[in-house]
Formats: sequence, C-alpha cells, structure tokens
Amino acid sequence: MTSAEFALIDWIRQRARVRPPVSVGIGDDAAVLQTTAGRDLVVTTDMLMEGVDFLCPDTSPRLIGRKALAVNLSDLAAMAARPVAVFVSTALPRDRGVPFAQELHAGLLELADEYETTLAGGDTNTWDGPLVICVTACGEPLGRRPILRSGAQAGDWILVTGALGGSLAGRHLTFTPRLREAARLVELADVHSLIDVSDGFAADLHHVLEASGVGARIEAASLPIHADVARCVDERSPLAHALSDGEDFELIATADPDTGRRLLERWDLPTPLTKVGEITAARDCRLIQADGTAAPLPPLGWTHTFA
Ligand code: ADP
Ligand code: MG
Repeated sequence: MTSAEFALIDWIRQRARVRPPVSVGIGDDAAVLQTTAGRDLVVTTDMLMEGVDFLCPDTSPRLIGRKALAVNLSDLAAMAARPVAVFVSTALPRDRGVPFAQELHAGLLELADEYETTLAGGDTNTWDGPLVICVTACGEPLGRRPILRSGAQAGDWILVTGALGGSLAGRHLTFTPRLREAARLVELADVHSLIDVSDGFAADLHHVLEASGVGARIEAASLPIHADVARCVDERSPLAHALSDGEDFELIATADPDTGRRLLERWDLPTPLTKVGEITAARDCRLIQADGTAAPLPPLGWTHTFA
C-alpha cells in the first residue's frame, strides 16, 4: 500500500461516521457489527464497472459513488430491510489520482449519511485498468422478517411505486432508493412479496412469478409511465419503455386484495403507489390492453450476457 492510499483511507475514515450497530468501523482488520440475536441480517453486494455501467468522463465520480451505494440500498429496500453498514471496494485507475477517488467516496458518503448508515470498511486498490467499484450493504428487517420474491399468492394485487421507463435519460444516476416506501409498505400491510425493478418491470415481475410459482395479469392502462420516457428518442411506445426499460429502481409489491385496498387508501407518501394487476394461479403472464384484448407478456428487459 502506498502512502497516498493510506492518506486516502484516512481521509475516508475521518468522514465516515460510525453509528450503531457498527461498533468498530474503518481502521482495523475488519469491522464489528453488534447484531441482535434472533434478528435476520440481510446482506447484498453489487459491482459497477466503467464502460459497462457508466462511462467516464461522461459521469462524474460523485454520481458513480452515489449510484454504487444506491443500487445496493435499492436491493435492501426490495428485501424490506434498512441499511446498517456498508462496505466499498474499489479498483481505481492510477492516472486519475486522489481527487477522483475522494469525489467517488464523497458521493457515496453523502447518500450513506442521508440514510444514516455507516461506511464501515472497504478495500482500496489502484491499477492501470478502468474504474471498478463494488459495494456490500448489510441491513436489518424493517418489519418482522425480510420480504422475499417467493411469497406472491394467487389473487394478490400487484402494486408498483413511482413511475416506470426512461431511466437511462439520466434518472438512473440520481434515483432515490425506495427505503422509505418499503418501510411504509411493511408498516401498513402484510406484504407477500417484494422486488426492485433493476432489469425492467416485466423481467423483474417474472422473477417474482418464477420464485412464487404463479402467473400475472397486468393492465396496460394502469401502468404508471414516467415523464422521462418522452426524452427517449426511438420508435418504441411509452408503454414498451415502461415495461422493459431497466434501472427504474421502483418496488413491485404483492398483497392480498383486502390488504392492497387498505394500502392504497392509507398510502400517504409523496411517491405514488399504483395497482397494476393481479397474481393468478395460472402460470402465464399476460398484458391486458385497454380494449380488453390479452397478449403474452414476456420477461422484457435488460439481460446480462456472456460472450
Ligand atoms: P488490510 O490490509 O487489513 O486489508 P487495509 O489497509 O486494506 O487493511 O484497510 C484498512 C482499513 O481501511 C480497514 O478497516 C478497511 O476496511 C478500510 N478501508 C480500506 N479502503 C477503504 C475504502 N475505500 N472505504 C472505506 N474503508 C476502507
Ligand atoms: Mg489488516
């Protein structure tokens, strides 16, 4: 480790406030978390790579650091968990220097502070390759237990937070992880299943359907379409964008109809909550158009590929 790397870690340590349940944060060989006996600890990790998840210099290091944490917080929200400690590992391009690394961490720390979570450790490396940043986030269930993808039941209402589509016009870098919405959902209702939209609404809905062994009917007319879709210049319809664009980072929740109705009545957050369809026992997934015609809804969205 070079003195510049030590100095960088010290710079980070001074800015990373330690909050419970973290008792030992940055500076020792490992962090210590005082977890509660009998409570689940929820852990998720996500890596972003230059040239794949973002481009430099198009994207500022501050926004890259923010996004690297935000995608992990979105995964915790999707488990109905609140973050308690986060870890960040970086492969830093040597030629971009310390200020670049500081900006990266400043963006991440700002979001960590907003959600009152502790940056409790990480790893710092420099190399002649592109930027790679990997964040691991630990959380505690917001309710009695984490909410899984596998809990959807036939008859459940399908609810979605916010609006869908057009995220790549810019929102994918500045989105708000739906932690407050997840907290309110589990406070108000017995939510059966939960997932965040990272690959695309239809693709992520299919993950719930597969994990739960059920199907779905989605009402095309009720899908909340984001205004950003108008900024996407291509031939695809606004509906196609809403169904298949990735990186919305909204939540899809399912709950039985009585609970769903009550949820919508009592919902009091600024982020909209919309019923978009129902879970069916029949295992197919269909899109119902405004005129009542039905068509199969395949798992449209971003797919990770290997060459
Ligand atoms: P070790 O050699 O034991 O792996 P390091 O020198 O890599 O330790 O790290 C020293 C301390 O600094 C550890 O607590 C580690 O978690 C923390 N750390 C290293 N890099 C970062 C980073 N980018 N952000 C936050 N903490 C970091
Ligand atoms: Mg050590």
